Amino acid sequence: MDIAVDSNQESVNAIRYFDVLIIGAGISGIDAAYHLQKNCPGKSFTLLETQETFGGTWATHKYPGIRSDSDLFTFGFKWKPWKDAPIATADKILRYLNEALDENDLRQHIRFSCTVISASWSSDEARWTLEVANGETGEIEQYGCHFLWMCQGYYRHSEGYMPDYPGRENFKGPVIHPQNWPEDLDYSGKEVVVIGSGATAATLIPAMAGTAGHITMLQRSPTYFFAKPNRDELADTLRALDVPDEWVHEIARRKILYDQKEITRRSFEEPEALRAELLQAAQNYLGDSLPIDPHFTPSYRPWRQRLAFVPDGDLFRAIRRGEASVVTDQIDQFTETGILLKSGKELAADIIISATGFNISVLGDITFTIDGKALDFHDCWSHRAVMFSGVPNMAWVFGYLRTSWTMRSDMVAEFVCRLLRHMTEKGVRSVVPTLREEDRDMPELPFVDPENFNAGYLTRALHLLPKQGDRDPWVHTQNYYVDRETLAQADLEDGTLIYS
Ligand SMILES: Cc1cc2nc3c(=O)[nH]c(=O)nc-3n(C[C@H](O)[C@H](O)[C@H](O)COP(=O)(O)OP(=O)(O)OC[C@H]3O[C@@H](n4cnc5c(N)ncnc54)[C@H](O)[C@@H]3O)c2cc1C
Repeated sequence: MDIAVDSNQESVNAIRYFDVLIIGAGISGIDAAYHLQKNCPGKSFTLLETQETFGGTWATHKYPGIRSDSDLFTFGFKWKPWKDAPIATADKILRYLNEALDENDLRQHIRFSCTVISASWSSDEARWTLEVANGETGEIEQYGCHFLWMCQGYYRHSEGYMPDYPGRENFKGPVIHPQNWPEDLDYSGKEVVVIGSGATAATLIPAMAGTAGHITMLQRSPTYFFAKPNRDELADTLRALDVPDEWVHEIARRKILYDQKEITRRSFEEPEALRAELLQAAQNYLGDSLPIDPHFTPSYRPWRQRLAFVPDGDLFRAIRRGEASVVTDQIDQFTETGILLKSGKELAADIIISATGFNISVLGDITFTIDGKALDFHDCWSHRAVMFSGVPNMAWVFGYLRTSWTMRSDMVAEFVCRLLRHMTEKGVRSVVPTLREEDRDMPELPFVDPENFNAGYLTRALHLLPKQGDRDPWVHTQNYYVDRETLAQADLEDGTLIYS
């Protein structure tokens, strides 16, 4: 028996039913759709997407220079070769995703301008019912499915994280968050202060340099950057040898993963040597324009946050040309003409950009209920960081934070398809991750260990995320190599997945 007993019956009681609903048409949603179509042929599915277009992150962000900070061999799909330089602009990523949709005839499955507001599970019907706001018609529609695949990313797309700056109302110029970049912003010749030193600041500053009068990167504390030419020598050599694109893609992925594994190992075993190398690479691009200390010498161990790639050292070269500079200090308050710092120094600004990251949105700001009871995901245990204890027929994609996100989307997609096929073979309608007797004494640990990864956006949101335990399958390691063993080869009859 297939779980999709009434699939494809449009408009039964005005509810549109599908076997699977995928929420979000970003890179993870497209990946999910590809795998579902290929590995579970016959299952009906649709993707519901708030925006008018696909691409998620790469459609939302429109600030100057917007680009990936990890390489596209691993950020791209396992199943579609990347044929360009490793770091790519949003335009190039969107072109790649557009091709993926066309080549696999997936666009017909996406319903744009559809925001999922609520999702309710009924155990009697073994089905999710979703309320969806249709942005085109203004109506609330109902969708039903047997399995919900959450690919809604991990942050709120409508607005970024903007701290409550003291005196913000005094500042006469615009205060902008890069996630809501005004299309008509004219910054030519202007004094710009960018608050923050993450990947966004590192992208914006070289892109605006030369047009803006001057840009100052104001950081509370330094960040590690990975400054390197934007090319992959191995991939270039293989291409020069006319090796097929599929091989180049796979070999480059393996090499990059291998190198990242080395970086991870060294960050634990020889953090000082790794740190010295990262700092030296930055210093090489800076020349003698600025000493590396104190502005680029973080106090934490490398790799506790994603290493922002600085292609061709462009951030450092902008500083070297005198078009940008760095200040390490704390904000006392905004003034009429800029920012007063805790040191007493004042930074003049015409425009202030708050490159301060995003607000985590655990599951797309959707209200979930199970048999009428409100669901708080923090009460749940994470099952392989894919499912939640007590939550039937639902998977979510939470990718890697250091390694490329998509490496995990791919693996989750394979797992979900395997699970769906398993359910069909068993003739069951629902699956619920459930603690075994021996799991009941597990310590409640945060979903991401702050000792291992300490980015602010995550530590701010740990109270919203599920908890993890101390044993398989309740742990979340953020480790590709562990997942390759545990997730890819997970026993679907290990006693933690209860079918009915
Ligand atoms: C500027 C920036 C650069 C980044 N660079 C990298 C990088 O180089 N490498 C890397 O690994 N990661 C990077 N990340 C993290 C990045 O978000 C993910 O890697 C990846 O793009 C996530 O893809 P996704 O499809 O899972 O989610 P998203 O790209 O966030 O897409 C989710 C989609 O779901 C939709 N959605 C959300 N809620 C609902 C709802 N209720 N109803 C309907 N639709 C909904 C959204 O509109 C969106 O289109 C970056 C993030 C940002 C902000």
